[in-house]
Amino acid sequence: MTHRVHNFNPGPAALPLPVLEQVQAEMLDFRGTGMSILEISHRSKAFEEVLGDAITRLKRLLRINDEFHVLFIQGGASLQFAMVPMNLALPGKKVSYIDTGYWSSRAIKEARQLGKAVEIPASSQDKDYTYIPTGFSLDPDTSYLHITSNNTIKGTQWKEFPKAEAPLVSDMSSDFLSRPFDVRPFGLIYAGAQKNLGPAGCAVVLIRQDMLSRVPKDLPTMLKYTTYTENNSLYNTPPCFVIYVIDLMLKWLEETIGGLENMARINEEKARMIYDVIDRTGFFRGTAQKESRSLMNITFRLASEDLEKKFLDEAKKNGLEGLKGHRSVGGCRASIYNAVSLESVRALVSFMEDFEKRFG
Ligand code: PMP
Repeated sequence: MTHRVHNFNPGPAALPLPVLEQVQAEMLDFRGTGMSILEISHRSKAFEEVLGDAITRLKRLLRINDEFHVLFIQGGASLQFAMVPMNLALPGKKVSYIDTGYWSSRAIKEARQLGKAVEIPASSQDKDYTYIPTGFSLDPDTSYLHITSNNTIKGTQWKEFPKAEAPLVSDMSSDFLSRPFDVRPFGLIYAGAQKNLGPAGCAVVLIRQDMLSRVPKDLPTMLKYTTYTENNSLYNTPPCFVIYVIDLMLKWLEETIGGLENMARINEEKARMIYDVIDRTGFFRGTAQKESRSLMNITFRLASEDLEKKFLDEAKKNGLEGLKGHRSVGGCRASIYNAVSLESVRALVSFMEDFEKRFG
């Protein structure tokens, strides 16, 4: 049997085994074409069906209608940090960002670099980004309010999205499709594919129809959202293989998991199992404040860096991969995106319990 580990990588991250198996099975002869998906035209009927299916499934999962466009854009979430202010900032108005850590700060940096007037109504920097700020007021003269729904590095997550007069914009790279939510207050949502959606190589963008009138005419073609909406993401060659795997992930989410409500229940259960071990004795110390804890990235420390190293080394020997914290913060992190199974989480939990018994 093929050797597979329990994969807790933060992104690129685990994909469901049935998805990988289907990729493997279809590789040499993609659906009767006699070519692989890597070799067919992006204008072919076979690929257009894949693209259409991915869009339909995504809209069905999120219960959205034609008010929203689903786009596939290369350049990852990081290009969206720039495209959002370029396209959605209104002339003479501010842009607002809640600062919840590393990725929010990068989004803010791009907006500033483009010369936008950035307002920061709230930040959790005062407590080292260990919580999600609440109870702030927003300048009415703002183009949009940008949040990072899940903070991959610090392990915090918005439980409820803020209410704002302005359209919300969210970087949902690390929790998109992990739970159901109401899309309507969002003018735009973007997510790098390589965590919850598929392989690296593009960002999925949802944009609300009324946002399109904001797009300045003089932007470079590839940096305008209207180029993608007007050409169904086929102005130039899209990342065909990535979109294909995303389509398979969406099919898995709909047909095997049974939709976002079920996915959310499973994700809650997985996170609860790990936080329970963390909270039991204090041997493991969760780094995020309890009410802001992420269900996707569980960040924790041990008593010393030496012990953390031992924990990570032994985890690896036991087939548990990807548990090292981000290089900017150290410590440990279990990323338990949609594709990480309950079985993998059980294996991690029993390893943590055993390690505590031996070193606690
Ligand atoms: N935003 C968040 C929340 C992320 O976790 C990441 C990647 N770790 C990014 C943005 C950057 O994504 P990309 O590498 O696709 O540009």
